[in-house]
Amino acid sequence: MKCSTESEHLIGVDLGGTRVRVVLSDEKGNFIEKRREEVDKKKAGAIADQIVRLTRFLCAKHGFDVKSLRGVGVVSAGPLIQEEGVLFKPPNLRFDRVPITKPIMEKLGIPACLINDCVGAVLGEKMFGAAKGLDNCVYVTISTGLGCGAIVNGTLLLGKDGNAHEVGHFVIDSQGRLTCGCGKRGHWEAYCSGRNIPNYVRMRLKETSAKTVKESLLFKTLEGDLSKLVAADLFACAKRGDGLSVKFVNEIGVLNAMGFAGVINAYDPSLITVGGTVTFRNKKMILSPIKKYVKDYAVNRVPKIMVTPLGENVGVYGAVATVLKYIPSAVK
Ligand SMILES: [Zn+2]
Repeated sequence: MKCSTESEHLIGVDLGGTRVRVVLSDEKGNFIEKRREEVDKKKAGAIADQIVRLTRFLCAKHGFDVKSLRGVGVVSAGPLIQEEGVLFKPPNLRFDRVPITKPIMEKLGIPACLINDCVGAVLGEKMFGAAKGLDNCVYVTISTGLGCGAIVNGTLLLGKDGNAHEVGHFVIDSQGRLTCGCGKRGHWEAYCSGRNIPNYVRMRLKETSAKTVKESLLFKTLEGDLSKLVAADLFACAKRGDGLSVKFVNEIGVLNAMGFAGVINAYDPSLITVGGTVTFRNKKMILSPIKKYVKDYAVNRVPKIMVTPLGENVGVYGAVATVLKYIPSAVK
């Protein structure tokens, strides 16, 4: 029989495109241990098996009975069918359906839940980060993809399949010059996500005089082979003062400002925190133009916009927060 002072523990999982992060945490968000591995993509069931194995490993190492855990919370990029605990045609995997929660519950005998990673992140921000005490807050990630999670009037927005707030697919270019990974044209993510920034830069280089391109540090860094371009090259050259790179970074900032204005106009938040690899590696270059230009597009009062203080752990904090919100405590 558990007593009222007993602290519960739980597992939080941040399932990314290439890496899975798993934490054993207490209910206050103190991490006992965090492990990180490459995602096992051999078969559709391999990811759940990997989470089960890591959960058992962490429990055994720290002397916890798996059955005593409150549950397992998994955050993942969508699309997902939240009620079924399934990833649905995930872009980073070659399977149509990837079951997550059912195999975890069957194999570990404890509750599990699955939620969109940005949705989890805004919950984590409210419980553990900069949005404590706020009823209106949004988390935006600028990473391989682009998305957000929103709490409005204290309510976490989910949508019919748990895929609300797919803001990465806001249209920011009515001419639709670039095609998004989703197949539609002109979407914010097609211009500003880590995966697609190279497409934007290549498009702009074609519109720039050959002389200017050839004289740029960016062109020299790539030894003239623009097919090698990744987002990090652009930011690295901009940081070294390359005029053309600075110009493109600023243009991407204006497009981000349009996207952020859409977020502000839709959700009217008191705070927007920003995360994602592209943000963490280029904090000033991402945030400064957004703050400068967002007022040109937002009709609602512009809130504070800041990099999340939870850093790279925002995903696992989100997973922990998801357990605390959706899985009832067994401690009476
Ligand atoms: Zn799209």
